[in-house]
Amino acid sequence: MKRKNVFWLAVGVLLLFGSFPMASAKNNLKTVSATVASNLSMLLNGEVWQPKDQKGERVYPVIINGSSYLPVRVLAEALDVDIQWDSAAQTIKIGEGTSSVQGTSSIDLTQLPLGDGKYTLMGPQKGYIYLASPPRGGDGAYKQGEWINTSEGTFDMTQKAVVDGAVKWESELTIELKGKDRILTGNRLPDHATGRFPIDPSDDAYRYDRNPNSIKEKLFQVVLPAKPLEASKASPVTPGAIGVMLTGSLIFNGLDAAGRDAVAHETQDGCYGHPEKDGSYHYHNLSACVDDPLTGKHSKLVGYALDGFGIYGKYGENGKLVTNEDLDAFHGHSHLIEWDGERVEMYHYHTTVEFPYTIGAFKGTPVRQGLTYF
Ligand SMILES: [Zn+2]
Ligand SMILES: [Zn+2]
Repeated sequence: MKRKNVFWLAVGVLLLFGSFPMASAKNNLKTVSATVASNLSMLLNGEVWQPKDQKGERVYPVIINGSSYLPVRVLAEALDVDIQWDSAAQTIKIGEGTSSVQGTSSIDLTQLPLGDGKYTLMGPQKGYIYLASPPRGGDGAYKQGEWINTSEGTFDMTQKAVVDGAVKWESELTIELKGKDRILTGNRLPDHATGRFPIDPSDDAYRYDRNPNSIKEKLFQVVLPAKPLEASKASPVTPGAIGVMLTGSLIFNGLDAAGRDAVAHETQDGCYGHPEKDGSYHYHNLSACVDDPLTGKHSKLVGYALDGFGIYGKYGENGKLVTNEDLDAFHGHSHLIEWDGERVEMYHYHTTVEFPYTIGAFKGTPVRQGLTYF
């Protein structure tokens, strides 16, 4: 698709003056007159296309000397071609190898912010998890790990005890689009190997967390809206599962039962998962066994939240590592994404390396009954 669209991009280049901040004084610019073609229809890959700018405002082509022009950024984004304005070099970069990719090194894994107590009962707040009621306390780690630095309010992810093992499972997950519904049916087992649970007394992780639970298969179904809508009112995160990951297993919110940072305190296996009492293997952040590579492009879909919105990996537009600062209080944002094989402007959540890792609150309406078990 990219090749044949190069012509369109070239056509659009002239109009980039409207899209990028440019020092016009030193460029010998020529003034031309243009007609705004607000009556011109456009088709993109056979479908009606109404181009919009980054603020979501409608953009119309203009006609200069019989040629049509559109901002090159609008075209590039619609065609899923990377584009970047390098102001130092006064250069527009289009296509492969364009993005200045930011690595995970920009977030120090040895000093991640500790999310202990970072919940709110009043409504969504950036960097916090919106709960319906205060945490009740309960099971969790047995002894606080040395990787947690409570006085600094940080933890060292690289020093955390890991539950050993390489247990394989028969994962089942089918995702079916049926009218307005997206029906997920599966057995909660992951499509990757897990650690050995219950944690064996010989495992170094046992010194901190004595998770006595076993991973158990359980058939479930959940019916999500295929085209979720943003709700007028925020919903708090649900206890237990907040979504289903494409690995086949569940994702829980970032807090443990006592309202502490679950990623810092609970002991997980090498894929960042572990079972809870009912045997459901789950994660509290993006599994290390989900492929979310640094490519210079937006991460792929990694799961569905219980309100139907997509959960994507840790890279945002142009492959930039997403932090809380880039997201709203729900832990998401809207821009063009891939959704059921189409490029659409849509709200979606991101996973982050830092707390709260996933959803802070539901942007849509979470399915009331949650997961149905058979
Ligand atoms: Zn857990
Ligand atoms: Zn995004």
